[in-house]
Amino acid sequence: MSSERGPGLLLVLSAPSGAGKTTLARRFVAEHPEASFSVSATTRPPRGQEREGVDYHFVSPTRFSELVARGAFAEWAEVHGQRYGTLRETVDGTLAQGRVAVFDIDVQGGAQLEAIWPEQALTIFVVPPSPAELERRLRGRRTDADEVIAARLRAARAEVERGLARYDYVLVNDRLEEAYRSLEAIVRAARASRAGAVDQAARAEAERHRKGKLDLSAWS
Ligand code: ADP
Ligand code: 5GP
Repeated sequence: MSSERGPGLLLVLSAPSGAGKTTLARRFVAEHPEASFSVSATTRPPRGQEREGVDYHFVSPTRFSELVARGAFAEWAEVHGQRYGTLRETVDGTLAQGRVAVFDIDVQGGAQLEAIWPEQALTIFVVPPSPAELERRLRGRRTDADEVIAARLRAARAEVERGLARYDYVLVNDRLEEAYRSLEAIVRAARASRAGAVDQAARAEAERHRKGKLDLSAWS
């Protein structure tokens, strides 16, 4: 457990659906009192157990357009025919309080946050070890029909290409425990360096996950 405050951090986790990003993000927020989820606004209707203000702020298309016109979003994007956006007040609040906001947003959104807040954003792309393993996990989750799984696998390859091109770090989620420890090290290294310090052990671990250092040939 850690409750340090320091320079605020925008921790952006993106991944193809089924990579394990939600599992990693939930655990990170549960174990780090200084971190909270960024709750996006979306035009898509709630699914299953999703709750207003917890999973998303569910808004009508008209309301979403009003928020865009008013400049309320730090970034927004259309994904699968619905609009999703990060509220500027979430980012401002996180940075003012020296907290960590965890973003579950797509690569276009993460790249926009990094362009606006290059010093504060930390972009991490989560990939499963291979397309075959991703397919196993999607099937194991038992939430999607065959044709939805096939579409998600096609979309995954495109999202991996975008993520590898634009993000700072890549986390291969093979063994969950190892991936989680690496995520923590990447964040610790970033927070230390932004506070003007060096955490050698965390930095060494983080460097192993810099884009370009890993063998991702299973995805090419
Ligand atoms: P995402 O949020 O990226 O769509 P989830 O966190 O829902 O992905 O994970 C997809 C499925 O894979 C879930 O059933 C989850 O329990 C499982 N999973 C996550 N990480 C691993 C891992 N390292 N090894 C095996 N299964 C995993
Ligand atoms: P879902 O509908 O499955 O919750 O999310 C669909 C996609 O939208 C996911 O890739 C998710 O990361 C992305 N997303 C969710 N919120 C935002 C947001 O505020 N901005 C952007 N750019 N993408 C988002």
